[in-house]
Parts: sequence; C-alpha cells; structure tokens
Amino acid sequence: MTDKFDAIVVGAGHNGLVCSALLAKAGKRVLVLEANDQVGGAAITREFTEGYSVSACAHLLYQLQPEVRKELKLATRLACEDMTTIALGEDGKHLRIKTGSVEGVSDEDAKQYRDFRKRMTRFSNLLRKYFNKTPPRLGTKDFKDLRRWLSWAWMSACSVRPRWKHSCGDLHEYPR
Ligand SMILES: Cc1cc2nc3c(=O)[nH]c(=O)nc-3n(C[C@H](O)[C@H](O)[C@H](O)COP(=O)(O)OP(=O)(O)OC[C@H]3O[C@@H](n4cnc5c(N)ncnc54)[C@H](O)[C@@H]3O)c2cc1C
Repeated sequence: MTDKFDAIVVGAGHNGLVCSALLAKAGKRVLVLEANDQVGGAAITREFTEGYSVSACAHLLYQLQPEVRKELKLATRLACEDMTTIALGEDGKHLRIKTGSVEGVSDEDAKQYRDFRKRMTRFSNLLRKYFNKTPPRLGTKDFKDLRRWLSWAWMSACSVRPRWKHSCGDLHEYPR
C-alpha cells in the first residue's frame, strides 16, 4: 500500500472504526481518514441543548454485534433497548412503532406493516449468516472464490426454501 501504512480506511463511521480497530489489533498499520470534524458517522452523538446529548441520526444502537463488543472490549452501557419509535402528529395522533406493531394508523396499514416486518425479518435472518463471512470476489475465476460463491448460493437457496421466489439472478445478488 504505502511504506507507512498497510491499510487506509476512508470514513470513521462505526463500520470504519470497527474495521480499523480490528486491523490495528491484528498488527496492521492503519490510517483512518474522516472528512467530518468528529468521528462516528451516523452514530455520532450531538448535544441538542445544554446537558442533553443524543445520537444525531441512528437511534437504535443496541444491535452492535456482541462479538464486536467483546473483541474490542467496548464498555457500552445502554439505557434502553427495544424503544418505541414515535412520529409526533400536530393533531395529537402520534404514530408509534414497537417491535411487531404500529399504532396510530388504519387497521389495513397496521396489517401491511406486520406483513412487511415479517418479510424483512425473514430476509435479515437469511443475511445474518453472512455478516462475518468474507464475501467472494465476483468476476474472478480463482478457485477459492468460485467455491465460496457456490457455497453462498447453496446456503441462500436452502434458506429461501420452501417459499421459492428467487431466480438464479437473485441468488447471484446475495454475495454482492
Ligand atoms: C435516517 C437514518 C436512520 C438510521 N437509524 C438507524 C438506527 O436506528 N439503528 C441502526 O443500527 N442503524 C440506523 N441507520 C443505519 C446506520 O446509520 C448505518 O448503517 C451506519 O451509520 C453505517 O455506518 P458506516 O460506518 O458504514 O457509515 P456512516 O455512519 O455513514 O459513516 C461514514 C463516515 O465516512 C465519512 N466520509 C464519507 N466520505 C468520506 C470521504 N470521502 N473522506 C473521508 N471521510 C468520509 C463520513 O463523514 C462519515 O463519518 C440509519 C440510517 C439513516 C440514514
């Protein structure tokens, strides 16, 4: 890479920070470049009024993988998990979303939300298996990559059964 660094990480959002910390832990010399004057990306903490700070964008911050917390010895203390998401309405009809339910909308919308969440949960359960795996490089004929691609495609195919709705083209998208 350069004489000074083994890796250059562009962006110090939480992914960049975790990635660079793990590389450094593995003995690599890492340079992290951040355009903002504060690190954290969308998980940045900002004071909105004196003495009160909040995450300025992402608000559900408890999903950081336990393996990452352990590996980096992060002493995270969470005040609350599974918070209700609220969109305030001027007319007092506030929209509240918590886990699998939504209040403040029509019965039809509430049902649509439940169906949507169920579907997304199914997708996320599928993707969870790949979180900590190195993806195969596409467009190469290297045996290791081809083998990994095939095993990913096979795992994807098994996971979407029996409700088979995906074409081979979709399966190709999983490793991406
Ligand atoms: C409105 C919104 C709400 C969300 N809510 C949640 C939530 O509640 N819970 C949750 O888990 N996730 C949430 N997410 C998703 C989560 O914020 C992102 O998945 C997460 O921030 C991605 O982290 P990251 O480190 O990859 O990128 P980012 O957090 O986007 O960080 C990227 C960093 O790179 C820097 N950067 C960009 N370009 C350059 C450059 N050229 N040179 C140097 N630095 C650069 C940026 O300044 C930034 O600091 C939300 C996202 C949005 C948009």
